[in-house]
Amino acid sequence: MIVCKFGGSSVADAKQIQKVKSIVDAQVQRQIVIVSAPGKRSKDDEKVTDMLYACNALVQQGQSCRELFKKVAQRYTNILVDLGMDQKSFLPVLEEVRQMIDAGHGAEYAASRGEYLSARLVAAYFGWNFLDTDPLIVIKDDGTVHDQTYENLKKALHKGKKYIVPGFYGCNTEGKVKTFSRGGSDITGAIMARACDADIYENWTDVSGVFSVDPRLVEDAKVIKTMTYREVRELAGVGAGVFHEEAIAPVIASRIPINVKNTNAPMDAGTMIVTDRPVNGQPLAGVSAKKGYSRLTLRKLMLFKGTGIRHALLTMLHIFGVRPAFSLFGVDSIVWFFETSQASESVLNAMCVRIKSEFSLDSIEVDHGHAVVGIVGVGVLQEPDLIAKSTSALAKDGIKLNFFNYGSSDTSILLGVDAEQAQDAVKSLYHALF
Ligand code: ASP
Repeated sequence: MIVCKFGGSSVADAKQIQKVKSIVDAQVQRQIVIVSAPGKRSKDDEKVTDMLYACNALVQQGQSCRELFKKVAQRYTNILVDLGMDQKSFLPVLEEVRQMIDAGHGAEYAASRGEYLSARLVAAYFGWNFLDTDPLIVIKDDGTVHDQTYENLKKALHKGKKYIVPGFYGCNTEGKVKTFSRGGSDITGAIMARACDADIYENWTDVSGVFSVDPRLVEDAKVIKTMTYREVRELAGVGAGVFHEEAIAPVIASRIPINVKNTNAPMDAGTMIVTDRPVNGQPLAGVSAKKGYSRLTLRKLMLFKGTGIRHALLTMLHIFGVRPAFSLFGVDSIVWFFETSQASESVLNAMCVRIKSEFSLDSIEVDHGHAVVGIVGVGVLQEPDLIAKSTSALAKDGIKLNFFNYGSSDTSILLGVDAEQAQDAVKSLYHALF
């Protein structure tokens, strides 16, 4: 049995949905289909999910979303008309959603309706069963999937039946609609694949697989044929698009292979994501960079003399909403990199003042504009000249290195650079190593 997930561009208009139908019809094993909300039809178009967040924002400001929601409704009615379907029976469904958003059910409810409406429409077009993920998929406060989900789905799914499932949302432990993070329909697909023990999870998008480097940066970027779950996770963790990094978790234990494919070029093989792959002269999978990091530097003579200092400092950081992503420890210093979006300048100032006095530090500083570049591959620790090649390529291209993380993962090497040099660093490393 095959579980397929189709992303926003695959359901953006009637023509795309017709492509989805012919892909699904081509193989009887494709029995569970997860859909996103309609995405952009062109570069300047708007995603339905973004419009729904905007509808909720209006309601939060005390206004009605009636006018803006018309644009959302139009996306669906256009699709219905173009598919030759009856739009009348869909109008009350749209109106009910609008009323619920106007009644103040919140951002997650509003955003979830893109997928809800999409799945209802596609289910009607296919003549398949619509299976709502609220209340079947239970999402914990930290965004991870509650085990109860799999019991719920086992009871709800019937062998031989075909289902259209909305991506991106479920409910929280109190039964209120809850969404995953953006792009989260990939996670729903992985959950469904695990729940019905699929032979394969196909993830249909608008590119022919996962690229070893961002094709907007490097013209001859190549699609990776086979990569491991860990490689995908690490590559997504340093900003590579295509597949949601948290979508690996549900399928990794049951070893269900994921095939990333292109709705607009269905014959392309795409990328296979599996448990293991041989290194076979191909130690690396890809290179990517993620911007938006700040650096916190703390110094104190004999900083580590007292026990539990790291823990105490981290607890204090958490109080101010700062959760470091990368750490470096010196003899008398600690450097933490965290996402800049986690705290405002005034919060950071307050945090520094408090930490400096409570821990009697010699100095504490925050600076912004950092990026992390990841060289990802199952063979990173087995290539003796990888570091030499990387650092000399960066030096040759005048790229300054702020930190180096080697050995903490067997699947990636992380390098810190200034954000403005991140793209050049990726290009430089790609040309030197691939
Ligand atoms: N529609 C949601 C988003 O735009 C979820 C998804 O497409 O996977 O983030």
